[in-house]
Amino acid sequence: MRASLRPWAISAAALSLVFAAACGWQPRQSVRAANPDARLGFSSRAIVQERSAEAKYTSQLSIDSISQFHRTITKRPHIAGTPASMAVAETIRKGLESAGLETEVHEFQVYLSTPRSITVEMLEPAREPLDMREPSSPLDPDSSNPELVPAFVAYSASGEVRAPVVYVNYGLPPDYAKVEAAGVDIRGKIVMARYGRSHRAVKIHTAQEHGAAAIIIYSDPADDGYAKGPTWPQGPWRADFQSQDGNGKYSWFWHGDPLSPGVGARADSKVLDPANAPTLPRIPAIVLSSKEAAKILGQLHGPAVPAGFQGALPFPYHLGAGPAVVHMDVQMDASRRPIRDIVATLRGKNPDRWVVLGTHHDAWTFGGMDPGSGTSAVYETARSLGALAKQGWTPDRSIVFAFWDAEEPGLVGSTEYAEAFERELRQKAVAYINTDLFMQGHFFGGGTPSLRDFLIQVTKDVPALNGKGTVYDEWRAERKGPKDTEVELAALGSGADFVAFQDYLGLPTLSVQYDFEGSYGTYHSNYDSRYYVEHFSDPGFHVARTLAQVFGVAVMRLADAAVLPYRYSHYAHKISGFLDDAGTWGDVKLNLSTSKALAAEIAKRSEALEHRIDENVESGRWPDSSTASLNDRLAHLEQDLLDESGSPAEHWYRHVIYGWNIYSLYDGQPLPGLAEGIRLKDSARITEETARIENALRRMLAELRQAGG
Ligand SMILES: [Zn+2]
Repeated sequence: MRASLRPWAISAAALSLVFAAACGWQPRQSVRAANPDARLGFSSRAIVQERSAEAKYTSQLSIDSISQFHRTITKRPHIAGTPASMAVAETIRKGLESAGLETEVHEFQVYLSTPRSITVEMLEPAREPLDMREPSSPLDPDSSNPELVPAFVAYSASGEVRAPVVYVNYGLPPDYAKVEAAGVDIRGKIVMARYGRSHRAVKIHTAQEHGAAAIIIYSDPADDGYAKGPTWPQGPWRADFQSQDGNGKYSWFWHGDPLSPGVGARADSKVLDPANAPTLPRIPAIVLSSKEAAKILGQLHGPAVPAGFQGALPFPYHLGAGPAVVHMDVQMDASRRPIRDIVATLRGKNPDRWVVLGTHHDAWTFGGMDPGSGTSAVYETARSLGALAKQGWTPDRSIVFAFWDAEEPGLVGSTEYAEAFERELRQKAVAYINTDLFMQGHFFGGGTPSLRDFLIQVTKDVPALNGKGTVYDEWRAERKGPKDTEVELAALGSGADFVAFQDYLGLPTLSVQYDFEGSYGTYHSNYDSRYYVEHFSDPGFHVARTLAQVFGVAVMRLADAAVLPYRYSHYAHKISGFLDDAGTWGDVKLNLSTSKALAAEIAKRSEALEHRIDENVESGRWPDSSTASLNDRLAHLEQDLLDESGSPAEHWYRHVIYGWNIYSLYDGQPLPGLAEGIRLKDSARITEETARIENALRRMLAELRQAGG
C-alpha cells in the first residue's frame, strides 16, 4: 500500500478546491435532505430495523479479538509466494469458516521476485561494505527474526555494476534536467535518488531512460526521518538504520501479474516472456537506509546541488559524479509462484448480488501495519457479521470478504481475481470497498463520487475515534476548501487493491482508512511489526475497532438497501468540474463543450430520478417488481465510463474519468488520458481522449434513460 507523499503533478485536492470554488450548483431539497435521519435506500420505517441489526453487529466487535488475530498473523515475515504467506491465508480461511462464512481459496500462478543475494560496497575513495540488512534492536524482538531477508526492490534486474555515483534528488525528469544542466553525465553511472514525490518505479524507469547503469533509492531524513519528527523508538518516524522495501514494477502498463494483462494467471495460462515484458525494470535497483546512504553521499564532489536538492543529512550535498565509486551485485530470484486469495461469503437472500469488502494479507515483513491493521479490521467485520448471522440475521444481498495475496508486488492477487472473474463481478458486484493500512490520524475516504453521500451517512452513524461527535465530524474537520463545502471523496490513484475494481471493472469503489501525515516511519521495513502497532500506530486497537464499525455499517446498508444508495447527480457535477478544470492544466486548445453538455444532462436526469427513488422508497411503493432491474442499471452506470475498445495489453486502464498518470502514481488523476495528452501537448491524443470522454458520457446517459432518468 501507498505511503502517500506529495504528488508531483496536479493534485486531486487542488482540483476539488478549484471545483468547489467554480461550481455554484446547489442540490435540490429532496425528501432525504429534509429529514436528517433519512438514509439513502431505506424508508424511515426500514432504517429503524436496519439500525437495530447494526447495533447488534456493533456489540459483537471486540478489541481483544482484533488484538489476538493481529498477533497471530504478524508472528512471521510473510512475503507473497512463501509458505509463511500460505499459512496466514489458511489462518484467515479457517477462522472465517468457523465464524460461519462460506470460504473459497483462489490460487493463481504469478511472476514474483525476491532477493537471492545483494552485496553493495564502496570501492573509492576507500573500500567500505554497505549493510543491506537492517540491524536488530532488543526493544523489538521481531527485528532479529532469522527469516528476514536483506532490503530489496522486487522486480529489480539482476546484474553487477561498478561505477561512479551521481546524486539525482528525487530522480524525476525535472531533476535530471538540472543535473544535466550542471554538466554531469549520467550515462553508465549509478544514480542515487531519495524516496518521495513519486513511486519508486518512476525513479527506476527515469534512471533507465537516462542511461544510468543502476539506481540506489534511499530514505532521506528530510522526507522520511528525523527532520519530520522523533524517530523510532522515540517516535513514529523512520530511524536512520531503517530502510524501505517495495516493488519496482512499471505498473502504468497494467497492474497485477507483470506477465498476464487481462488474464487471471493460472498455472497453464499463456504469459509473456519476462525478457519482453514492458512492466519489468531493466537495470538493478536497491534500497538503503539513510545511515548507509550517507557513507556514499558524503563522498560525492563535483558541482554543488541546485536549489531543492539538499536533504537533511548533516553535510552539503554534491552531484558527483564520484569520487565515490560503488560496486553492486544484485542477484534476484524471479519466477512464477503460487499465491492464494481468500474469499469468504455471507450468503444473502439474493445471493447473486454482492457487496465486496477487500484488503490484503501478504506483507514485505511482519505486516504490523501494512497490512495487519487492515486485515484485522476486515477480519473482525466478517467474524462479527458471522456471529450476527448465527443469531438469525440474513443480509438481502451477499456480503463478500476478500483477503488478497501479493498486494505488495503490485496488487497482484486482487488484479488476477478481478481479471479471472470479470464477467461475474461486473454482473453481480454492486460496490467494492477497500482498506489497507491505517493508523491514528485523519479519516480518509476516497472513491467514485456516486458513493460520497452514502459514506457521509455511514460515518455520521459511527462515533468518532476521539470521542467527540462522529467519524463524519472528524472527516469534515479535515477537509480543505471554503467553510460551507461538503467533504469529497479523494480521487483514487494507485497503490492499493481498489485499482482493478475501479479502473478495470468499473465498479462503484470506496477506499476507507485513517492516515497519518501521508507516511509512517516503518513503512516496508523490518520494524513494521506488532511492536510498532502497540507503541505508535494503534495502541489498544481503537482505530481498528472504529473502522470495523464503519465497514460493518457500510456493507450491511449496501446489502439491505431497497434501492442502491448511489448519487450519480453528484458524480455528474464532479465530472463537470473536472472538465472545467482541464482548461487550466496546460496551454493547449481543448473542445470539451459536448462533454460538458452531456454531463449537465446526466446531472439533471439523475437528480430527477433520485428524487423519484427517494419518494417511492419512503412511501413504501418500492421495492416492487421493478426495483431489481433498476438496481442493476444503477450499479452498471459506472461501467459505462469504461472504454473497452483496446486490448488489455494496450489499454488496461479503461476508466476514462478516474485513473492516474506515471507521475501521480499514488494520487488519483481525473480524466487521466486527457491529462496525459495535455501534459505531452499532443493534439492528436487530446482529440482522441476528448472523443473517449464524450462516448463514455453518451453511454452513461443512455443507460440512465433506460433506468428511467
Ligand atoms: Zn498494504
